[in-house]
Amino acid sequence: MRPIVSLDNVSLRYHSVSGETPAVSHLNLEVLPGEFICIVGPSGCGKSSILSMLAGLLSPSEGSIRIDGEIGYMLQKDYLLEWRSIRSNALLGLEIQKKLTKENIEYVDTLLEQYGLGDFKEHYPYQLSGGMRQRVALIRTLAVRPDILLLDEPAAGMNEQETDELLQIIRRIKELKKTVILIDHDMKFVMNIC
Ligand code: ADP
Ligand code: MG
Repeated sequence: MRPIVSLDNVSLRYHSVSGETPAVSHLNLEVLPGEFICIVGPSGCGKSSILSMLAGLLSPSEGSIRIDGEIGYMLQKDYLLEWRSIRSNALLGLEIQKKLTKENIEYVDTLLEQYGLGDFKEHYPYQLSGGMRQRVALIRTLAVRPDILLLDEPAAGMNEQETDELLQIIRRIKELKKTVILIDHDMKFVMNIC
């Protein structure tokens, strides 16, 4: 099977006035369609940098990246817009991509219900817990039906119960047979899904 994602000898260096920071060096990785992979490592080891390159937000300093599908990227921060309702935040990606069809809107409403946010559609981000906000960010990412899902520490800031709920959601995503690349520093969390 042909990989849907491949990184060939990829390095990334950040440049600032204080000098150069090597974030990723000589990384080789192939991900097959439908694979669910986790990359684990301590804070600062370069995990988010890898995802940002996969998403095309950063270009590698060296090496090459090939992606064979649409990417959905759930960043480490939820980036919800405080002045928009939960439902309208969840619809944002579709709105930007001009894909606000009846079917897609129904899909988002279904996801909101499924992920326990049905009663919070008209609430605003500040009224939600950290875990609920992360779920909204995840729905916003899923709404555009990406082929490849990048998840950056999706359980960050969640309590134990919220983490358990998120694990259930991620298991459900696994059943969709999407290609998923998840990064985290928490070995215990990762061992629960990979
Ligand atoms: P992780 O996600 O594993 O915590 P990052 O990819 O965010 O790691 O960071 C890897 C390294 O690159 C760290 O040393 C970090 O300080 C540095 N770094 C990250 N983003 C930037 C940036 N925009 N400018 C300069 N250095 C950065
Ligand atoms: Mg990070």
